[in-house]
Amino acid sequence: MLKFDLEKKNGLMRAGVIHTPHGDIKTPCFVGAATRATVKALTMRQMRDLGSQAILANTYHLILAPGADLIKEAGGLAEFSSWHGPTFTDSGGFQIFSLPDVKIDENGAKFKSHINGDKLEMTPESSMRAQWAIGADIHMAFDQLAKSENRQDMEDAMHRTHRWLDRCVAEHQRLRDDGDVSFEGFRSAAARGEAPSAHGDGPDGRGPRKECCHHHMEQYLYAVVQGGTFNDLRAESAKYCASKDVDGFGIGGVFVADGMDEMLKTVNSILPEEKPRHLLGMGQEPIDLFIGAEYGCDTFDCVAPTRMARNGSLYTLDGRINIKNAKFRNDFTPLMPECDCECCKNYNRAYLHHLFKTDEITAKVLASIHNEHFVVKTTDKIRESILGGTFAEYKKQFLSRYYKK
Ligand SMILES: [Zn+2]
Repeated sequence: MLKFDLEKKNGLMRAGVIHTPHGDIKTPCFVGAATRATVKALTMRQMRDLGSQAILANTYHLILAPGADLIKEAGGLAEFSSWHGPTFTDSGGFQIFSLPDVKIDENGAKFKSHINGDKLEMTPESSMRAQWAIGADIHMAFDQLAKSENRQDMEDAMHRTHRWLDRCVAEHQRLRDDGDVSFEGFRSAAARGEAPSAHGDGPDGRGPRKECCHHHMEQYLYAVVQGGTFNDLRAESAKYCASKDVDGFGIGGVFVADGMDEMLKTVNSILPEEKPRHLLGMGQEPIDLFIGAEYGCDTFDCVAPTRMARNGSLYTLDGRINIKNAKFRNDFTPLMPECDCECCKNYNRAYLHHLFKTDEITAKVLASIHNEHFVVKTTDKIRESILGGTFAEYKKQFLSRYYKK
């Protein structure tokens, strides 16, 4: 079982530590979205330097390129990407069900690769096998997204997700017990006594993770709670997921913050408190992080902070600004004076404005460093405030300034 220590609790809200084979995650924690085994525009060293604790990659994107087997051959996601820290994979369900000509039946989903048009199929079993080969510490069960917000569609998708969860759990256990996926494949070249390791002085400046290379590398499964905007369906789904032999829970299919507090209250009151919970795809707005933590979520991931950064939309404590706006042309102040990221410590708004206006690649790098740092540190401060008993004050002070008109 995945080890999760609760350090402090206040209602549903909690702070804790998830112990993964690749290191600890202090929660609440914002997990970096490394869809294709990279956080867009950032190196893994930059991710470490800005304080990121964990990354989440996407199974759908990785099976298309470079392929799950290649990542296994490379020694698993952490070795392949040189992240060497805790890793998650999403099941790929969300991306597959968003494709234009996907065909879904009880067995799984048939779809075409958006890269070369190859006809592919993903089932609960093949998603589990792909995630084992990719080798992240924490895997998500393969779930079905509803076709619409319509109640019947939501209910159908939820029930199928539950049936698929049973198949995911069975396949996950089979892979764990039979050792069908060779653990040898997840060992680094150094541990196998092959080429000398480059990691001692590698890109993240850390030594080889020997403790990971030599012991049996356990992998863990989260069930995904569905049910959309219907609290009774959410409750039913949470009960079903809670009854299963899984290591934690993903809360999926949340697209709007409206009503998220009630939904999370329903779900997290049912889920067992001794297992961690991941809120899938939420964290674009700082308020999502506060609500998520307040109502009992431990980890979050979202592609929006770095996507917005690439478009010049940057977080500050006074709300988001677009650095391409003409008023920043000769603004020689730091992007966010209170921020100690590489971007804010060294560059000013006029310089960032210039880089964006001239479409320099560095614009996207610096902006991504800042936005990712902002959400990571905001979540870290939420954790500190939970531990220190000052969450309510911190939330009020942060949100009243950020969302001030
Ligand atoms: Zn900054």
